[in-house]
Amino acid sequence: MEKSLVILKPDCMEKRVMGKVVTRLERAGLNIVDCKVMHLDKKMLSEHYAHLVHFPFFPEIEDFMGSRPVIAMIIEGNNAVSRIRTLLGPTDSQQALPGTIRGDFGTDKMLNIAHASDSKEAAEAEIQRFFGKK
Ligand code: ADP
Repeated sequence: MEKSLVILKPDCMEKRVMGKVVTRLERAGLNIVDCKVMHLDKKMLSEHYAHLVHFPFFPEIEDFMGSRPVIAMIIEGNNAVSRIRTLLGPTDSQQALPGTIRGDFGTDKMLNIAHASDSKEAAEAEIQRFFGKK
């Protein structure tokens, strides 16, 4: 059993497709073990996206991710980290195949519906950051 942190981003909320995204995770046999609505502030975003803060497009990501409340979830299941990333598809929604969450609902590189931890270590740090627990 493994845990991953998933964030349903502002474009997911605006397009009202959270139910469809959650259904795909559930159909894959994954369980939601915690969930909350959050409005992400600049401090949280600069920690969460620390690997991107030096890019010129970071202010855009900050504006987008802080534009409305999002849903943060802890998802649990066998190989949850890699399986959720596969269900999502690549970062750029235009490159994501039909049948993937980003391929079906995303718009572009930034508006790509959901975040999911990219490693077990990242999942642990993100679960601690967003939920204050292991
Ligand atoms: P992922 O979310 O697939 O793990 P990254 O960690 O590289 O991808 O990027 C985090 C988020 O920042 C992406 O999901 C996307 O919303 C945004 N992003 C990444 N690269 C770009 C880019 N070149 N232009 C605009 N937004 C980007």
